[in-house]
Amino acid sequence: MTGITIALSKGRIFDDTAPLLKAAGVIALDNPETSRKLILATNRADVRLIIVRAADVPTYVQYGAADMGIAGKDVLIEHGGTGLYQPLNLNIACCRMMVAVHDDFDYESAVRQGARLRVATKYLHTAREHFAAKGMHVDLIKLYGSMELAPLVGLADAIVDLVSSGDTLRANHLKAVEEIMSVSARLVINQAALKLKRHTIQPMLEAFSAAVKQL
Ligand code: ADP
Ligand code: MG
Repeated sequence: MTGITIALSKGRIFDDTAPLLKAAGVIALDNPETSRKLILATNRADVRLIIVRAADVPTYVQYGAADMGIAGKDVLIEHGGTGLYQPLNLNIACCRMMVAVHDDFDYESAVRQGARLRVATKYLHTAREHFAAKGMHVDLIKLYGSMELAPLVGLADAIVDLVSSGDTLRANHLKAVEEIMSVSARLVINQAALKLKRHTIQPMLEAFSAAVKQL
């Protein structure tokens, strides 16, 4: 097959991606937010979209089930990036990976005293690396969402999560105490597909790249 498959997730990433796809001449024939279809045709016979969970995008591209995809840096770090070419920062879905604690928790003293903190997060790899680099011993607790709840009910002392406006933290009496990294969405391409389907992928890559500069 000479056509290409692009893996996308619904929500934040799709909202920010639709204008980029359009600039690359690709328009979905169904709205993924309302359609129940997981494979969406586009205006181009040689391009289709598949809709997967944000954290699954790198896996589909790694195994070549999708030729390319759009995934957050947060998700790419947890995945590890094996088999993926990451040529372009799309500068969309921008946010920051932060450590946050309850408003009245004195994080600085806890760190100074070498306290062994319990940290709840979806991002085990990122959190492990961050605290190891600081020489801190932490007990990591894996969660799949709503991390903000954990310090409020005594599950954890701190969380590692994505923050954009900070509204969710404030609404839950939490404060950000450390920035781990800034996060945005990246274009990822299957390394074998890039070679085999270069004639289709290369022009799309160039169109994305031009569209990103316009934003
Ligand atoms: P899911 O619920 O499947 O984790 P989200 O829509 O919450 O999906 O997140 C998808 C991606 O959007 C994340 O991997 C991240 O790169 C980005 N993202 C998450 N939270 C924010 C945020 N607050 N602001 C901007 N981008 C975000
Ligand atoms: Mg989410």
